[in-house]
Amino acid sequence: MARTIASKLTRIYLIVAVLVLFFAGLVSQLYAYHHSRTVAHENLSTQAVALAGNLESAVTFSDSAFAQQTLNALQHYPDVRMAAVVLPSGKYLASYLADDSPAGNAHLEINLAQGNFMATQSHGVVQAIAGSGVAATRLVMVASLEKLNREMELTALAGLAIACVILLGAYKLFSRMSRHVTRPLEQLTSVMRHVERRRDYQQRAQVVSNDEIGELAEGFNAMLGALETQNTSLISELDERKRMQEQLDHLAHFDAVTRLPNRYYFHDRLKISVAHGLATGQTMAVLFVDLDNFKLINDSYGHHVGDVLLQTVGARLTSALRAGDLVCRLGGDEFAIILENLVDLTQMQPLIEKLIQQLAQPLRLDNHDVVISGSIGAALCPEDADNPETLLRYADAAMYAAKADGKNTWRRFNVDMVSQSTLRLTLESQMRLGLAAGQFEVHYQPQIDLASGQVIGVEALARWHHPELGEISPVQFIPVAEDCGFIRQLGEWVLRSACQQIVQWHLAGYTQLKVAVNVSVRQLAHADFAAHVMEILAETACSANFLELEITESVLMRNGGRALELLDVLQQCGIRMSMDDFGTGYSSMAQLKNMPVSKLKIDKSFVDEITSNRSDLAITTAMISLGNILDLQVMTEGVESLEQVVLLRQAGCHCFQGYYFAKPMPAQQVADFIDIFSKNHTEISKGITT
Ligand code: C2E
Ligand code: MG
Ligand code: MG
Repeated sequence: MARTIASKLTRIYLIVAVLVLFFAGLVSQLYAYHHSRTVAHENLSTQAVALAGNLESAVTFSDSAFAQQTLNALQHYPDVRMAAVVLPSGKYLASYLADDSPAGNAHLEINLAQGNFMATQSHGVVQAIAGSGVAATRLVMVASLEKLNREMELTALAGLAIACVILLGAYKLFSRMSRHVTRPLEQLTSVMRHVERRRDYQQRAQVVSNDEIGELAEGFNAMLGALETQNTSLISELDERKRMQEQLDHLAHFDAVTRLPNRYYFHDRLKISVAHGLATGQTMAVLFVDLDNFKLINDSYGHHVGDVLLQTVGARLTSALRAGDLVCRLGGDEFAIILENLVDLTQMQPLIEKLIQQLAQPLRLDNHDVVISGSIGAALCPEDADNPETLLRYADAAMYAAKADGKNTWRRFNVDMVSQSTLRLTLESQMRLGLAAGQFEVHYQPQIDLASGQVIGVEALARWHHPELGEISPVQFIPVAEDCGFIRQLGEWVLRSACQQIVQWHLAGYTQLKVAVNVSVRQLAHADFAAHVMEILAETACSANFLELEITESVLMRNGGRALELLDVLQQCGIRMSMDDFGTGYSSMAQLKNMPVSKLKIDKSFVDEITSNRSDLAITTAMISLGNILDLQVMTEGVESLEQVVLLRQAGCHCFQGYYFAKPMPAQQVADFIDIFSKNHTEISKGITT
């Protein structure tokens, strides 16, 4: 254990005190010893002088008896061990010995020539009694110093004992006093230890004295104050850094709009889920969700509304899933979902259907009721693929298949989809060049009014003659063009071609003919669409009355608001609006009444079965009646047989488009068809009515 300052100080004090006492004692003892001996010697000399005086007459008269009697008086002085009156001849006139034993007299030999002497145990004096020089009679006295020495020893021992007692007392006193001095230091030390252990920089030392320790405590407190300030700012800086780091982490892994995990997080989790699925033998699935026609909403109502829509979609997807499932936003209108621990495939189907249902719920955005939908592709691990990248790619391909199958639905991946998705990529990359290279052509499918027996119009349908892939159906390339944004360019080109063509037919005398052009939702999304249409009409010198624009019912239903305003504007300019694929978009009668359309085109899917399916006939009849009641022109498309025409006429429909009358054909063949049809229409009508 480390020694305390108090104990160190006490030790120092003790050593100093011991040394001081020792030397002081030693000096005083030596002095006392020397002094006592000197006094004893002086007394002996005085005694010798007095005795010499008393012996003077005895010496004068050589009276040895008197001399002896005088010397014997020395027995009263126990220290005097020997005395003798020595004649000049060296003989003793008289002598005295305190102790007769030879041992007692051993040191009594005296050297007269030496005179007075001072030894350790004895001292002696030589005093002349009579005469001088060598003829002098002298008194010799030797006294013992033993008693004195003993006394001195006793005094030294007593002094030592007293010194020890003093030292002990001094030690106690020192240790008390040094405690008093070092207590502030101890307090300071304990504060320092507390601060060190707890990192508590709010702690302060007590300033109890105004000496150096007090100054030290004040300095220590000032240092703690500075540390506390530094520590507080350090902590807040660290907090701020931590917060920023968390924010950065969040930004790196979470999407700012929907607050859902982002693409990076998704890829990390997907790897883990696939590995876990493979390790445990559990099936897991990746769902690729893409919103249908999101771009239109984004462009029509602005990005703010688009963001709200994405947030709603994120919330709906999350709420429709199980606790452990993960929804991520990959970007744009694409979401991905990881479904783990699927017991069997039947568990997935209701889950996805619930997602589609949830997405299709109407929502109110910017004071408009909007219906959005989503297309979902699903790929399973390990059934479809056993690595994350392929799994996601397959789910993506399945999603495109769902889109191609009319959107607002889902598809599970199958191998054919790989070639389809490869084909999609090929088409996407070659479309622009294809249009520039003249690989696209517009075909026209005649539209017949059996009431007047006339070809009243044609529908312009794009065709792509690919140099290697051959004829590519618009069912394939239109969705691709819509996705990659090429549809605007293609749509404009078709519109321009159709307008030029109709002007030519009018010039050729077919003045009753109208041309219907399909408009994609992506085209409607552009605020300047109406202006572009008007520009093309002006550029081609085509009257607005000859033009009809076909918009599919589902698009109109889902993207009301601005799209409708746009169509209203176009209709007011004289362009007719036609609702394409009617029956597939579930518009209500109330909505239909307010739509800026003057024509309904009943979808082929209803017409297909009317000869065999009574409910399809009933539905088609109801739709025709509805159109007639609302004073809209009703046309059925996809009519392929005489039976269908007969039933549709009975249901009240007079206008037809379908292979039964004509397939879409190049522009050059249209005039011939019209001519032949007008010549034969009476017979055709007769065949139908009979
Ligand atoms: P749609 O607008 O409903 O066009 C009618 C489709 O039905 C055309 O297919 C037409 O050839 C086909 N059709 C007509 N009568 C019959 C029939 O009796 N039987 C059968 N089986 N089919 C018949 P097509 O030309 O393949 O076009 C498919 C779709 O592609 C069109 O459906 C339209 O939505 C879209 N489309 C075609 N060209 C364009 C275009 O220039 N722009 C846009 N936005 N879409 C286009
Ligand atoms: Mg159409
Ligand atoms: Mg159609």
